[in-house]
This record gives sequence, C-alpha cells and structure tokens, in this order.
Amino acid sequence: MRTSELLHDAAGRAARYLTGLAERSVTPSAAAIEGLERLHEGLPTGGSAPEEVVAFLDEVVSPATLGIAGPRFFGFVMGGSLPVTLAANLLASAWDQNSAIHQVTPGTAELESVALGWLRELFGLPDDASGGFVTGATMANATALAAARHRVLADAGWDVEADGLFGAPPIQVVVGAEVHPTVRKSLGVLGLGRTRVHEVEVDAHGRMRPDRLPELRSPAILVLQAGNVNTGAFDPFPELVARAHEKGAWVHVDGAFGLWAAASPALRHLTAGMEEADSWSTDFHKWLNVPFDSGIALTRDPEAHAAAMAVSAAYLPSSGVRDPSNFTPELSRRARGVEVWTALKTLGSDGLTQLIERNVRQAQRFAEGLSQAGFEVLDEVVLNQVLVSFGSPEHTRAVVAALQEDGTCYCGPTVWQGRTAMRISVSSWATTDDDVERCLEVMIRLGRKPEPSAAAG
Ligand SMILES: *Cc1c(COP(=O)(O)O)cnc(C)c1O
Repeated sequence: MRTSELLHDAAGRAARYLTGLAERSVTPSAAAIEGLERLHEGLPTGGSAPEEVVAFLDEVVSPATLGIAGPRFFGFVMGGSLPVTLAANLLASAWDQNSAIHQVTPGTAELESVALGWLRELFGLPDDASGGFVTGATMANATALAAARHRVLADAGWDVEADGLFGAPPIQVVVGAEVHPTVRKSLGVLGLGRTRVHEVEVDAHGRMRPDRLPELRSPAILVLQAGNVNTGAFDPFPELVARAHEKGAWVHVDGAFGLWAAASPALRHLTAGMEEADSWSTDFHKWLNVPFDSGIALTRDPEAHAAAMAVSAAYLPSSGVRDPSNFTPELSRRARGVEVWTALKTLGSDGLTQLIERNVRQAQRFAEGLSQAGFEVLDEVVLNQVLVSFGSPEHTRAVVAALQEDGTCYCGPTVWQGRTAMRISVSSWATTDDDVERCLEVMIRLGRKPEPSAAAG
C-alpha cells in the first residue's frame, strides 16, 4: 500500500472511531478487554504488511479504549480533542520536526512563539513571560519549580545547577493541604522533598487560609492553586501573593485547568491576583481540548527558567530568537505548540470563552439536577467540578461502579474532606446539553436503586 493510501485508511478509521464513540459504551466491554490477549505474541521475526498492522490495531485496540474523546466522559478533568487539533496533530506528525532549536525547525518554533504570545494575553501575564511547552501540568509544575529553585538559591548566593542541593541553604517550601499530588511528586524529583513541606490549612472549599500562612523566610517557595481538583476552588491570590513577595518568596500557581477561567469575562474574577505570581502551570489536554500530551510552564523570570532548563550555560541567544528547548526538560521533543496554536486560531478568544462557559453551565446543571433529585451536592459549583454523594460511602462507590458498568457516561470516585463522593468534571468541547440530560437520567436512576447486597460489605 502506498503512503497516501495508508494514511487515508488510518484517517478513515480514526473518523469512524470518533463517530462510533457517540453511541458506544464509554467504558470498554469485557469482551474488548479480553480481546487484548491477541497482542500477546512473541517478538515477530518476520514483518507484516503496514495496512494489516493498522487494521489489527483498529480491530483489537480501538474497542478496548476508554471513550475520553467522546461527549460523555467526565472523569479526571480530561478534555477531548477538537477535531481540528487532531488534524493538525496528524500534519505535524508528518512534518516530524524535532522542535528543540529555532534555527533547525523554524516553522514549529515560530508556532510556539506565537501561541505563547496569545497565551500571555489570554491569561493576563507579563509580555515577556517565558514558556516551556511540556507534556502536562506535572512536568509544567516541575519545570516552574526548577526555575523557582534556581532563583531563590541564586538570590542566596548559591548555584544549584552547578552544585546541586548538597550544602545549599535549605529552602522553605509551603503548599496548601489540598495541593495536587503531582506537585508533591515534582518537589520530590527536584530534591525538595514530597513531604518536607509546610502544609497550610484550607477552608471548607479547599482554599488556602491566609491566616494560617506560616512566617516565610527566604529562600522560600509558596505553591498556590487555581482550580482545586475536587471543588474547582481558587486560593485567595491577592493577599497570599503580596505576603509572600514581602518576604522575597517565589510564588507558583498550579492552574492545570483553573487558569482557563481567565478566558471568560464572567469567571475571570476567580483568578484575580494570580497574574502577580512568579510562575504558572497549565494543561492544554484538559480544557483547551488538544490531543495528549500537552501543557505549559510559564514564568515571569525567563533567565531563571532558562538557567534551570537550558542544556548549556550559553542560553538565551542575543538575537532574541526563542529556542524551545531552553525552557523544557527535554532536548528532542515533538512540536507541542502546533495543536495549541491551532486550537486558539480556530476558536478565537470568543470561541474559547464559549467553550469554557458552556462547560461551567453544564456542570451547574448537573449539580442542580442531582440536588433536585434529592442527592447531596457537597460544595458549590464555581467552575467545572461537581461533587455528589448518593448516601453512604458504600452506596456512592456502588453507584459510581454501576455508572461505569452502564457505560452511558464516565465519572470517578473521590474523597473530599473525608467524604466519599462521585466527581463530575465537565471539560469537553463535545459535550452537548442533551448529553448532560441523558447522563443525569442515568445517574438519578442508578442513585435511587437500592444498594445491591453484593456491594454492601
Ligand atoms: C491534572 C492536574 C495536574 C497534573 O496534570 P497532568 O496533565 O496529569 O500532568 C496537576 N494539578 C492539577 C490541579 C490538576 O488538575
């Protein structure tokens, strides 16, 4: 089969897969998962025809996927892919650009520069904020915190890139009690420790309490949150950032999905003050609805960012040309900015505002429908996250399991301040208001079912 036929065949299969998702069970069937047995063969000595390999993938693996790309997936804050970003991804894969250095791959490096400019404007960040296009918020947090580590230690007269942390002045790291577990992981990777942190108490919505902030002493890093993964709540930035800056601390904001509230005039008040921080991280594969994997680390200190990430000390070329790899942990890397540029170009800021506001309205409708049906919604819906209890922890877990088994939609379980709940995260371009009503009916029906004795234990 010629290259062009092979690609058309794959594109046709991809399109049929996506169309099929609208009616297929969101969770793969037991038969589809059993079918994965067919993958388990010894390393083939002889090759296979390319078209047969693609057909095999489609036949065996397509049915065994979770319907994340479909309209009724509400687990873990994951968007689908806007079709145009999938198309751009296909084209970019054909380009096969190693987007590390501008001079080598100018096209994709320029796309990233332009996308970075648009993002600064969208989030209200400084005109010269630096950005590293990375795999997601975990790596974005790690990258931004590496820049923070550089700056606070450089200010204390210590070169952490050259000398490491051995003998360095100890850094005071302060996080909220509801910090995302991936921030802890990033702190561990950076040698700052997953648990060697000061945890600040949070309020009933999961927001850091300014009255519980410890006395900060530099070198210090304060990690705040835009969008609590359970409630969507935002830390009170103005007071916290001002107090940290008085003491010379670096403030990082984990805004994996919450930063996108800044794209809506109606929701922007939630992010007020976050622009005064020193670094920010967000995901594109969540609310911007681009294919996995994609996120960004942004900082107001390009020098610290590049000092932490550039391969050699000869970073920041005087020409002002931006080399993507000066801001990322990777050297060789795919051109992640392509889909970001494509999504922003296609939606425009108006389209993005509509996407964000539609999902927020849909989350509010879930909360309204479930509480009208008599179930307890555990916190106010400020963004796109809904927490609902169907009764006892056992019953709530059983309802989540039954919902996943039913396959109309997908939600996961969570524990919120000691309470077991089902979490609904609305973050897909593909979700329609009809989808929401259809899912509500199923949730309410399953929620009202008496607890099956098998699940009672
Ligand atoms: C999802 C999420 C992360 C981790 O993002 P990945 O894209 O999975 O690496 C970090 N922080 C928050 C608040 C999140 O919601």
